[in-house]
Amino acid sequence: MSRQFNLVPRDVGRIETPYRRIVTQLPAPGSLTVLETLRRIEPMAMQGQPPVVWDRAEGFQVFDAWGNQWIDWSSGVVVANAGHGRKEVIEAIQKQAGAHLLTNYCFPSEPRARLLEKLAALLPEPLQKIFLLTTGSETVECAIKLCRTWGMKNGGRHKHVIVSYQHAFHGRTLGSQLAGGIPSLKEWIVNTDPGFVQIPFPDGWRTRDTSFETFERHLREAGVEPANVAGVIMETYQGGSAAFAPVEYMKRLRQWCSGHRALLVLDEVQAAFGRCGTMFGWEHYGVVPDVACFGKGLSGSLPISAVAGRADVMDLHPPNSMTSTHTGNPVCCAAALASIELIEAEDLAGNARYMGAILHSDLAAMAARIRNIGRVFGKGLVAGVSCVKPGTREPDGEPDGDLAWRVVERSIEKGVLMFAPVGYGGGTIKICPPLVITEEALRESLAAFGEAFRECLV
Ligand code: PMP
Repeated sequence: MSRQFNLVPRDVGRIETPYRRIVTQLPAPGSLTVLETLRRIEPMAMQGQPPVVWDRAEGFQVFDAWGNQWIDWSSGVVVANAGHGRKEVIEAIQKQAGAHLLTNYCFPSEPRARLLEKLAALLPEPLQKIFLLTTGSETVECAIKLCRTWGMKNGGRHKHVIVSYQHAFHGRTLGSQLAGGIPSLKEWIVNTDPGFVQIPFPDGWRTRDTSFETFERHLREAGVEPANVAGVIMETYQGGSAAFAPVEYMKRLRQWCSGHRALLVLDEVQAAFGRCGTMFGWEHYGVVPDVACFGKGLSGSLPISAVAGRADVMDLHPPNSMTSTHTGNPVCCAAALASIELIEAEDLAGNARYMGAILHSDLAAMAARIRNIGRVFGKGLVAGVSCVKPGTREPDGEPDGDLAWRVVERSIEKGVLMFAPVGYGGGTIKICPPLVITEEALRESLAAFGEAFRECLV
């Protein structure tokens, strides 16, 4: 949504609990110099997030420099799975930086080998070849390239169609936006590629019919021959709503892809590394993709991403034809390895499962009481609360972006930090705390969120 938060400080009332502290006007008057510099120099596109100037972040909390502190429900943007500012991650970064190796392009390095070995051990067969990159969008670009190369090799030039889902977000680069399912984001592309086709995502709400037959029907309606599909790319859950597809649909999709020699690509950029209460989000479906994209929670901190896939797919391109300047940067590799070790050692997927049960039962109770909540989707420590205009919950909910925006703003005033609403019509409030959040902090933040929601309805 094209909105900006107001930079005029206003009285918001004092909050002081062990976890939350709001003791200034918001935005904090002392932060205005930084905020104004950013507004002046950065493009407007960078001004969509709440004006909270992060000074430091630890565990499940974010602090500004003026005495305010929040329980974080953003994890940055679904990044800090192992918690913000973990000592082990900082030490790994310091140790690698202290070893005086800050960059090495595609020359071999030990930190890269160690991270890859860890990932290969975690990933199921057949995802045993892994390529490190820097951003999530880059992994999607790479997956598209692999699908098309695979398709053309196995079925000729007609086998190039990339099927993906409406409302999907796969990144902001050209290819990732072609695969994305948000038409307004790709108007600038003008000559969109007819080899990219989006079909409805079976969320069971805005798409009522979740049977797999709809997949085949929509392909037919789009004039796509199954034999011409090179790959199907899906976010494990839709980032804009946190909706998962039905298990049965996914099992049939897996079979369909194998049967038609199309690659199944799961974009796990948001879903992996414990977020959904499992190490990988696809475990909820009981299927394994041919190619997977990772980012965000892979390091929980420094920029690093990865594509994992079948060896025959990953080896389609010869030496030096799939590279990236910062591939497997040694400091980022060290951070990622330390973060994954924390996720494993502290069973943070288990914590996400346990806390997720509390989160989702509380949100379900809220949705039962509040008619402006259309649906709550998600699993583990990710939830999407879809705000709708009153009386439109069924059949498919008219999004209420204004309400979502006000609730986010009010929650922040109460010491619960979230990023701006996302999804269809900007109506989804996304909840994704670091996986180290405690039960006490989760319950406290849920109570504050509930209060904020009620106050926005009167
Ligand atoms: N895929 C998904 C599912 C995402 O959520 C995102 C980022 N929100 C991306 C891809 C793109 O990642 P990045 O911003 O790191 O390019």
